[in-house]
Amino acid sequence: MIPFSPPKIYQELIDEVVDTLQSGWITTGPKTKRFEKDLTAFNQNKNTLCLNSATAGLEIMLRWYGVQEGDEVIVPVYTYCASANVVFHCGAKPVLVDVSGDFNIDAEAIRAAITPNTKVIIPVDFAGFPCNYEAINQLVREDAIRSVFRANNPNQEKLGRILVLSDAAHSLGAVYQGKKTGQLTDVSVFSFHAVKNLTTSEGGAVALNLPEPFDNQQVYDYLCVKTLHGQSKDALAKSKVGGWRYDVIEAGYKANMTDIQASMGLVELRHYQETLARRKSIFDHYSEALSRYDWAQIPVYETNQSSSSYHVYPLRIFGITEAQRDQIITAIFEQGVSVNVHFQPLPLLSFYKNLGYNMSDYPVAYDNYSREISLPVYYDLTDEDVKQVIRAVAGAVEHVLNA
Ligand SMILES: *Cc1c(COP(=O)(O)O)cnc(C)c1O
Repeated sequence: MIPFSPPKIYQELIDEVVDTLQSGWITTGPKTKRFEKDLTAFNQNKNTLCLNSATAGLEIMLRWYGVQEGDEVIVPVYTYCASANVVFHCGAKPVLVDVSGDFNIDAEAIRAAITPNTKVIIPVDFAGFPCNYEAINQLVREDAIRSVFRANNPNQEKLGRILVLSDAAHSLGAVYQGKKTGQLTDVSVFSFHAVKNLTTSEGGAVALNLPEPFDNQQVYDYLCVKTLHGQSKDALAKSKVGGWRYDVIEAGYKANMTDIQASMGLVELRHYQETLARRKSIFDHYSEALSRYDWAQIPVYETNQSSSSYHVYPLRIFGITEAQRDQIITAIFEQGVSVNVHFQPLPLLSFYKNLGYNMSDYPVAYDNYSREISLPVYYDLTDEDVKQVIRAVAGAVEHVLNA
């Protein structure tokens, strides 16, 4: 069976983890700080904070911006539940909007959804392909849109507009107009979950890139406290001579990354260009082979201004129903290949449906979803495996279409 997304475990990774285990310091410490610096150098943003998940990073940034009951946050309907759940955690309302044919949030749908209660937009770089950030960043700076923005705390007054908080869980290393994803918006959040391009088993990072007059170092320092119970010192600082006394300045959260996780991240980032190159070559191989079939809708993952991080290969089949797509997936599995669907749009899931979100309000998302099959992409997938995936997909589609 060809698995969908197994972790890649290699000696250098094991050695770095063992080094941490033997170092006498296993929670947040020197390796986490080094991983943060390496990520900042990679993305060329201002400061980076590593945490235990992307979900924690998104929620912490909503809370940092003071998002609360009565506020609205615009989220694409086509995403993983985390992007919307964090909005509920803050007591605010996710305003779900439709996506475009490239699976990413539709800038005109954002415009139509903005109200005086809108505080944040969370664009999602689906499958690693960057959103239309030129349009999104311009939109939040338009005079007419700024003038309806109602600031009700110091950070909101300082920014004076809607915050763009990218869910870049898929898109580490993707490029848009010559810039990496960590510097495309005010804040970007990466995931290092086990199935993501770069993994620390679980983990995430907040890439800060706030404009003047924000001091990103100061925001970083504050977030370190906020993500460690509001403690004025972290465990490492407390362990130093005379460091035992500390203060608590707020009821903070517990979301720090450990040095065990960071040691995986350090090694993974060192090899990340090779990871991206291998993933791109798998994407190209799929596209080249599948474009020979007139039923195959090849995803866009490179344009003259952007390139993907090649996280998920979202093939669509022209002219099929959701039921046929499901039959095709079963037939692919029967040939020993694991595939997946990214994503079930949120209104298809009970929690959101029961709140009144309705799938028929999002026709493009439904069309994308009902015809989508995600093909496996990972470093260790061999050229022979890729051929087997293509044979399985072609066989399954033709079997179902001719049935
Ligand atoms: C994986 C994922 C997340 C959540 O990441 P965690 O690190 O598991 O919290 C958020 N958004 C999207 C789009 C994801 O795919």
